[in-house]
Amino acid sequence: PHRPGTPHAQARIDLAAIRANVGRLCEVAGSAEVMAVVKADGYGHGMVEAARAALAGGATWIGVAGMREALALRAAGVPGRLLAWLLTPGDDWNAAVASGVELSAGADWAVRAAIRAAHAVGRPARLHLEVETGLGRGGACPGDWPGLLDTAARAEAAGSVHVVGVWSHLARADEPGHPGCDRQVAHFRSAVARARRAGLTPEVLHLSNSAATLTLPEARFDLVRPGLAVYGLSPVPDRAGPAELGLQPAMSLTARLASVKRVPAGHGVSYGHRYRTARETTLGLVPLGYADGVPRHASQAGPVLAAGRRHTVAGTVCMDQFVLDLGDVPAAPGDEVVLFGPGDRGEPGAQDWARAAHTISHEIVTRIGARVPRTYT
Ligand code: PLP
Repeated sequence: PHRPGTPHAQARIDLAAIRANVGRLCEVAGSAEVMAVVKADGYGHGMVEAARAALAGGATWIGVAGMREALALRAAGVPGRLLAWLLTPGDDWNAAVASGVELSAGADWAVRAAIRAAHAVGRPARLHLEVETGLGRGGACPGDWPGLLDTAARAEAAGSVHVVGVWSHLARADEPGHPGCDRQVAHFRSAVARARRAGLTPEVLHLSNSAATLTLPEARFDLVRPGLAVYGLSPVPDRAGPAELGLQPAMSLTARLASVKRVPAGHGVSYGHRYRTARETTLGLVPLGYADGVPRHASQAGPVLAAGRRHTVAGTVCMDQFVLDLGDVPAAPGDEVVLFGPGDRGEPGAQDWARAAHTISHEIVTRIGARVPRTYT
């Protein structure tokens, strides 16, 4: 990715927008603290940069999936409370405990791994016990929860672990009002009560992603874990866009046309000729493809701002490039086109690409590839 010259495409990241979004989330969260989720390279925005901006904006916690992400943040000197929740036995538990990374445990093996690490490094592991409340993903199911609590309570009594939190994750927070959310909140409350009966005193309860932070006050507890909203995208796009939620999209993806040419009517465009020009026209070649995260599913559908007008991807998105039918709009190689951004120039949003590719905006921003340089303002 490190090439001389002007990049043919770039993702501009507005760190002030990230700071402002986190400020907004802190306001919404009220007395709950905010954990900014920066896994997956800060949802494509740059993990370290996003974490620093989020802390500057008022987040007091940083959340990641993997332990390697947590250790990379520590190696970069990112301060603050840091939780990693998607762990495997082969992870470097010793390094995580030694550097004060807080760890999720949703099964006995994880508590045992934490105990071993605590003994190895000479300090207690800080654990957040994960309970399965209805997502059907990680965490202890009802039958396993009491056993996990007993293991954790014994380890805490022995001084090997400190059970800091209990947490879970919602299946349908992006469908505000869905009864499944209330069921999960109720299940969570009874799992916490069961933990207290087991002699544990978790002080940090957390359940909410972006959607729940913004729409489900009863799920906020002590700490909320927004990811998408930190980056200014709406977790409930069918109900409200970023502006209505007080958020500013932080990433703009732009590219410079690699070629421009006049072609006649009936010209087949890109693999499979899924597009054919209706009349004589100008084709512009955009040097971004599915290897850069432009979804192939957005062939014939993805929106782009070029020469002041919205155009749609013509034909199939290739590995490194796709074509726009620019009509008679004057265009030249090197002209900038905008795939998505905050919308202040009339450009599409990441959500428009998500809609075109039948996916969610999380996937659009996290998949922007490593050869697209990130620049920060
Ligand atoms: N918490 C957990 C456990 C997650 O896995 C995620 C992301 O998938 C989040 C919080 C943040 O979710 P969102 O980006 O929808 O806010």
